[in-house]
Amino acid sequence: MKAEIIAIGSELLGPKKMDTNSLYLTEKLNRLGIQVVRKTVVGDDPRRLEDAFLSAISRSDLVISTGGLGPTRDDITRDVLAKALGLSMHLNNGILDRLKQRYRARGTKFQENSTRQAYVIENTEPIPNGPGAAPGTYLEKDGTVIVLLPGVPREMRYMMEHFVLERLRKQWSLSVPVSIMLNFAGIPESMIDQRLRKFDFSGRGMEFAILASLRRVQVILTGQDRDELKGMAALVKGEFPEAFYSEGDRFLEELILEQLKAAGKTLSVAESCTGGFLGKTLTDMPGSSAVFLGGFIVYQNKAKTRFLGVPEDVLADFGAVSSPVAERMATGVREAFGSDFGIGITGVAGPDASEEKPAGLVYISVNAGGQKEVREFHFAGTRDMVRVQSVTAALNRLRLLISRPKEGK
Ligand code: ATP
Ligand code: MG
Repeated sequence: MKAEIIAIGSELLGPKKMDTNSLYLTEKLNRLGIQVVRKTVVGDDPRRLEDAFLSAISRSDLVISTGGLGPTRDDITRDVLAKALGLSMHLNNGILDRLKQRYRARGTKFQENSTRQAYVIENTEPIPNGPGAAPGTYLEKDGTVIVLLPGVPREMRYMMEHFVLERLRKQWSLSVPVSIMLNFAGIPESMIDQRLRKFDFSGRGMEFAILASLRRVQVILTGQDRDELKGMAALVKGEFPEAFYSEGDRFLEELILEQLKAAGKTLSVAESCTGGFLGKTLTDMPGSSAVFLGGFIVYQNKAKTRFLGVPEDVLADFGAVSSPVAERMATGVREAFGSDFGIGITGVAGPDASEEKPAGLVYISVNAGGQKEVREFHFAGTRDMVRVQSVTAALNRLRLLISRPKEGK
């Protein structure tokens, strides 16, 4: 099913007001499997509005408009549509009574111009407006469903959730599609996209989407049949056994805290270029104190030596941004806190190079006593982006170390 949205209101054509209603409508319609194929923004002008309605109705299965249902002179939506379709309007006494009651309840005098809101187009269903005054309109014309909703976002949402969505579902026997979200870390979006091309998602009636941020890459599979989706999800996961970390809407830190809690293990962190961002990310999670003991922000070399025991000669020989320094930081912080795991991060956040090392060069070490590793990363982007990617990479390396079977076992 194909839908169009018409956002009505001259203010939406000005520089101050955005049509946000259509974003909400699109999300709701998509969940029913209805695709939004066109959006129009039109001012409070009868001729242009009529034009917008007629062309939308001629093209689409569903046309939803928002705005212009109120009592004022510029609220013309109902009148324009009725005229365009050659339908008459008549006063609905039930609606009029309700409007009058509303005024009484508020202790204000009934405004005669409000009567306009009680006029309904012939052979249409008024849609009750819970939080507001003006009712909406639901009608069918030559196989197209037309829905008129108010512009006030709260009222518009109310009508969608209490009336429109259910009506559409029934009328078109729509089944609600299901989605499975798969989260990946430590792998670029492009590689996932490339490798998944061999799967015929659309041939199996599924939709496939990738949502990437610096913190995770999500693959979202949507379809009608949960079991089929699960089968496909297993194949997708199988392509990237190391990078896949969780289903659902989850971030790495949630998973890590859970894993550490389950294993009864603790963590501490030593941060240079991330300036505490890793600690912040972990402590953003409620209950993190059960496993996260604390950390050091060791920005200057002196601090690295004094608090974490990074030897001066190692700093002098290799520079602060180096693999041995990251490793000593992780070891040092783990010892200082007596934690099971220690993480050390040192790098050049940028934008300029430092010690002749390029911006974006970051070393991350994870230490679990018996097992330890150091990795070199080259991140692109602004100072902030380098920091976010460093935190993501550190969490991901920790995740892999936690889940890796111990050597010799
Ligand atoms: P009312 O009965 O309150 O007059 P209405 O249906 O006539 O409602 P409008 O007068 O067009 O609606 O708009 C009411 C309010 O809703 C305004 O604040 C307007 O900015 C806001 N609004 C209208 N359309 C949109 C839209 N597409 N996206 C976001 N806000 C909107
Ligand atoms: Mg209005």
